[in-house]
Amino acid sequence: MTRAAASARPALRPELCKGCNRCVDTCAQGCISPGGEVDPLTGLVPIDLSLDACTGCGLCVEACPEPWGLRFDDGAPPPAAAAAPRDLPGEQLPLPGGGALVLKGAHASAIGALLAGCRHFFGYPITPSTEGAELMARVLPGLGGHFVQAVSEVAAVNMIYGCGGAGLPAMTFTSSPGFSLMLEGISYLIGAEVPGVFVDVMRAGPGLGNIGPEQSDIKLLCRGLGHGNTRAIVLAPATPQEMLDFTLLAFRLAFAYRSPVMIAADGYLGQMTGRVHLPGALVRPGLPAWAVHGDAAHRPNLISSIHLAEVDLEAHNERLQAKYARMIDAEQRADLYRCEDAELLLVAANTPARMAKGAIRALRDEGIAAGLFRPQTLWPFPVRALRPLLERTAALLVVEASDGQLEDELRLALSHAGAGAGIPIHHVRRMGGVLPSQREIVAGARAALAGRARA
Ligand code: SF4
Ligand code: SF4
Repeated sequence: MTRAAASARPALRPELCKGCNRCVDTCAQGCISPGGEVDPLTGLVPIDLSLDACTGCGLCVEACPEPWGLRFDDGAPPPAAAAAPRDLPGEQLPLPGGGALVLKGAHASAIGALLAGCRHFFGYPITPSTEGAELMARVLPGLGGHFVQAVSEVAAVNMIYGCGGAGLPAMTFTSSPGFSLMLEGISYLIGAEVPGVFVDVMRAGPGLGNIGPEQSDIKLLCRGLGHGNTRAIVLAPATPQEMLDFTLLAFRLAFAYRSPVMIAADGYLGQMTGRVHLPGALVRPGLPAWAVHGDAAHRPNLISSIHLAEVDLEAHNERLQAKYARMIDAEQRADLYRCEDAELLLVAANTPARMAKGAIRALRDEGIAAGLFRPQTLWPFPVRALRPLLERTAALLVVEASDGQLEDELRLALSHAGAGAGIPIHHVRRMGGVLPSQREIVAGARAALAGRARA
């Protein structure tokens, strides 16, 4: 940066000032002070200039990281506004076919992320999710990507915020105590409409609990994603194949809705080994128009969740509510197993759904018409697929590894939909890292049908 004549004075374009205050420290004449007013265009606080004592030394201009924020007022017009940024679409690149791989669930999820074009991982190791992070640490550098082990989950979630705000696919693997630490940051991502994928390999709680499998975070995932009116799609895989497929899907949904997407796995799923087929294509990500990207076209972009005027924040919340409504309408997913004639409907997700499937086969051998309704999205709960099954259902039996968190989602969904009135809801629950056994589920089913008349 060349210095101007001594008579020249720096001028500020407040809408480009980041409020970093580097220029404040450089001015020996005390001409620059931290600002006191939020710029309505940016939500940032630009500096105040008082140039009576200015010598035109130019040190402040040299210190400013923003090329057009603080510069000498040489009469030159500001650069012509760049054309508005536009979405650069991603590409699907064909993958050669091959046989099935045998993979751990956490590894399958990591491979799904790589195939989705994710080259940025931020996280903090925590059992039983660490295998996914380890694979990313091994593979990403060779792919030109970045693996950062943050100092904590709080740091990791904010790194995802920055990377997602740049329009890049970013993710983390974590587990329940770590996920709890990320919740404030997730609220910021939702508020600022920043994509990111969170794979929560749930373990038993409360507190540090243990590293056994539990569905301990369903209430956080569906009802407690930090402060504010927050919702995000929650995918619930039950096999290593779904760990891969749902991770790929999560990245697509994260960018389609500009929102974080959650994958609710459990400790067994993270460790479980199974056959996994790769998809026929991998993704080369594009660049969304809204990204904070380092070129002239994207310069006006600003990502923030702050809306200081109450009416603005309410309007923003209403936009988010409309987005949640679109998710509820378009993203309900469920898997049905032998539900066509079921009078007893088992409701289960994740690994407990595998036990429930075995129990259904045993119950069918006894002549009991049982079926499995398996939500693949915990939020939005797939009540649309459940509703028609209820016409012939005598009882519902919720099988889960928690104190009733899945049952709460079922009851809320039925209540909001005005469905299922009079159908008794029973449950088989285990906690602490213990999963419901097939024998317990069969016994629970028999008990549920003992008084099969509708309540
Ligand atoms: S040009 Fe020099 S004296 Fe003038 S405001 Fe900048 S740093 Fe201060
Ligand atoms: S250095 Fe530039 S961006 Fe930072 S406060 Fe000063 S004018 Fe603003």
